Amino acid sequence: MEEGDEIIVPEPTFSEYAFGAHLMNGAVVKVPFDEKYSYNADNLLAAVTSKTKLIYLCSPNNPTGTYLPEADLRRLLERLPARVLVVIDTAYRHYATASDYSDGVELIREGYPLLALNTFSKIYGLAGIRVGFGIAPESVIRTLLKVKEPFNVNALAQAGAQAALTDYEHIEASRAMNEAGREQLYSGLRKLAIPFTESMANYVLVELGEEADRIYNQLLQRGIIIRSAKGWGLHQHVRISVGTEKENHILLEALAELV
Ligand SMILES: *Cc1c(COP(=O)(O)O)cnc(C)c1O
Repeated sequence: MEEGDEIIVPEPTFSEYAFGAHLMNGAVVKVPFDEKYSYNADNLLAAVTSKTKLIYLCSPNNPTGTYLPEADLRRLLERLPARVLVVIDTAYRHYATASDYSDGVELIREGYPLLALNTFSKIYGLAGIRVGFGIAPESVIRTLLKVKEPFNVNALAQAGAQAALTDYEHIEASRAMNEAGREQLYSGLRKLAIPFTESMANYVLVELGEEADRIYNQLLQRGIIIRSAKGWGLHQHVRISVGTEKENHILLEALAELV
């Protein structure tokens, strides 16, 4: 990124992409989601200018839980000018159960200029060890290596990450528990007639309306921490993490009293 270069981000999404661009004096072009926060690949393509360097995709997206289907990702990659690098943040990929979800790896194998970002902070439960990794074609990685500092992820964190990668039992147990928890939240929210966006992640974006702030604060007083979505400009929404069956139950009971 040089001064004046542009990145394209969906809106609303994880704030780090814009943060990084601002550090480099780049400009951030925000492309709103369609209805129900679904991605629109054509709108992303239409936002490309001669100054576009990067397109960030967050799939599943934080905070909406929506994702870019594989066919749309492929179409995007086929139509973009070669100088534009697509970065797909797949922090929540393990939770995605839709059959047309793509974590980008297949497309990278096919040679598309795509960088897939991964973290140990989500399903692996290792946010404190500060490790992630990226997958990209060799030419992209060679470019990154020109600016990468020589100091690496520390050896303890590497050992933890390496062990976590093949802990399939943990991954599958977490994934299954999250899928059941999402369904539990959906059915509880439907009973309360509270609108929400179906999620491929481990949280659900919920629309509480004008009372969102009051409900958020009253839940907090009861020791139930959800996330206000105000920081994303969604003043009538909250983002609720999927908990254990018991936690989800306690939350739904409290919501029934407060809404
Ligand atoms: C949590 C998260 C990350 C990963 O953050 P770490 O710095 O690896 O802990 C990346 N992208 C999104 C969208 C996230 O929500």
